[in-house]
Amino acid sequence: MSPHIEIDLISDTSTRPSAGMLAAMTSAETGDEQRYEDPTTRALEARVAELLGMEAAVFLPSGTMCNQIAFLVHCRPGDEIITAANAHVFGSEGAGAAALAGAQFRTIETADGIFDADAFEAALRAPRHRSPRSRVVSAEQTTNRGGGAIWPAHTLTALAERAAAHGLAAHIDGARLLNAATEEGVAPASYTTGFASVWIDLSKGLGCPVGAVLAGSRGFIEEAWFWKHRLGGALRQSGFLAAAGLYALRHNLERLAEDHDNARLFARLVAGCPGVQVFPEQVRTNILFLDVTGTGRDASELSRALMAKGVRLGVESPTRMRVVTHLDAPRAAVRRAAEAFLSVVAPAG
Ligand SMILES: *Cc1c(COP(=O)(O)O)cnc(C)c1O
Repeated sequence: MSPHIEIDLISDTSTRPSAGMLAAMTSAETGDEQRYEDPTTRALEARVAELLGMEAAVFLPSGTMCNQIAFLVHCRPGDEIITAANAHVFGSEGAGAAALAGAQFRTIETADGIFDADAFEAALRAPRHRSPRSRVVSAEQTTNRGGGAIWPAHTLTALAERAAAHGLAAHIDGARLLNAATEEGVAPASYTTGFASVWIDLSKGLGCPVGAVLAGSRGFIEEAWFWKHRLGGALRQSGFLAAAGLYALRHNLERLAEDHDNARLFARLVAGCPGVQVFPEQVRTNILFLDVTGTGRDASELSRALMAKGVRLGVESPTRMRVVTHLDAPRAAVRRAAEAFLSVVAPAG
């Protein structure tokens, strides 16, 4: 973060480890992770597997690697992955599924990133020799470009059931699955029934500097380990990082609700601003978008004016900005950011 940014709402990745987290990291028990000798990493994997209701889990450097390894395990070259058109796996991972697994996407248009079992079924290929083989359906909890929307557990369960009926594996990109669970007050595992793979990011709302954990059946995780090595994701004393994850699951989980309240506060404060549309109408978690078309101003220009006031928002397109709340942006800071936005868009007098 450059020094003149005082309030950074570009992403929930823009956090620094707290003093408590750093203390947990420096006192971690460690060993060689590649040799299964790092007890803290093993403990984190067991904790996440339990949390997500899966048999086993593996620690990885990033969420992107979790998605890519899941596709590498599930797919053979030429297979097809069905997902929302605004999904991170489709648009924000360097075409990894195509480049690494040799898989292609078939996408479903949605506003909020959520589709039901019928929409999924309509996107399936007829099982002909000339068709791509539909192999995986991927859901994103919460939806990032969909404005932090939450897939209801029953929608996910129905999707996984329908996928199984057609012989597809179901996968959850759970970068912010814990935001959903906290907001709904449900067990994280309630979302994963019938899913072959699911992961959570430690470096988003949980406030860790690095890390993600991919979970699935014992057999799936065994296969995932081959790819972890092959892609260079097998680590050494990763316990220092895993300790941050364990600390975050203990201390930073319930407080995600504050991020959601703060995102709703931002939405409320800018709601009446002329020329600005807030998406979604009902902010559920920690992400919202501002459509600035009606201001007649370019989002990058607004962003520069905001930066001059020490506030950074995301610029998604010339007409769309993104706001993401997190643990390093307390309520007063979010309020100040919204006020700065208002002063830039509609200067008084
Ligand atoms: C951030 C994100 C990812 C990728 O995670 P990294 O840890 O940044 O690699 C994947 N999916 C979604 C929905 C995300 O928001």
